[in-house]
Amino acid sequence: MLDKYHILALSTGDILRETVNKGSVLGLKAKAYMVRGELVPDEVVIGIVEERVRQWNCGRGFLLDGFPRTVVQANALERMMEKMGLAIDHVINIEIEMEELIRRLRGRRTCSRCGAMYHVLFTPPRKDGMCDICGGALYQRDDDKEKAIRSRLQFYSRQTGPVIQYYDAQGLVRSINGVGHIDDIFHRIVEAIERKERYAKRRSHPS
Ligand code: AMP
Repeated sequence: MLDKYHILALSTGDILRETVNKGSVLGLKAKAYMVRGELVPDEVVIGIVEERVRQWNCGRGFLLDGFPRTVVQANALERMMEKMGLAIDHVINIEIEMEELIRRLRGRRTCSRCGAMYHVLFTPPRKDGMCDICGGALYQRDDDKEKAIRSRLQFYSRQTGPVIQYYDAQGLVRSINGVGHIDDIFHRIVEAIERKERYAKRRSHPS
């Protein structure tokens, strides 16, 4: 997605994991929520996103992964975007059955050195427990363990569900079938974005 559109990306989960690894006071506070599969408090996450976005030259736009996850975060994002003179173009909602989601998360392994991701069944590394790219050790995130996954999913439907409704009311949500090979899902996302862009262009320049 990033190579295709030449935009920057920000994953709040990645930034939070970096903060936890640094062992700062903020990191310790965030870790307590993350290992339980709960959401980190809004003011912490909003502060992190604000700081990163301010440092960017956002000319070509950007992709936010895992943010906003609550309506409070969505409102904060709107204020940030207004200040930058930007607007949200698309909200990508990847849909998948609960049990399949659990299967994917439970089997996920992450490289402790470069962050590359594997799946024990679908995309295993060449050598057990070792990253193909950098040779780093693979580990299972605490929040990819069954108990935390179930808790994350509960928080998701309670707190993130209303965010989807919030953007749906603005006509921004592009719902994508998340079943299948990663390349097919990628093409579905690109197709949904481009369909909407063509439609918007036709409306602004009717022939
Ligand atoms: P992810 O890598 O996006 O699955 O995020 C991993 C964990 O980081 C989540 O389960 C939350 O504990 C925390 N997190 C990431 N993004 C957010 C957010 N926008 N709001 C609150 N917590 C977040």
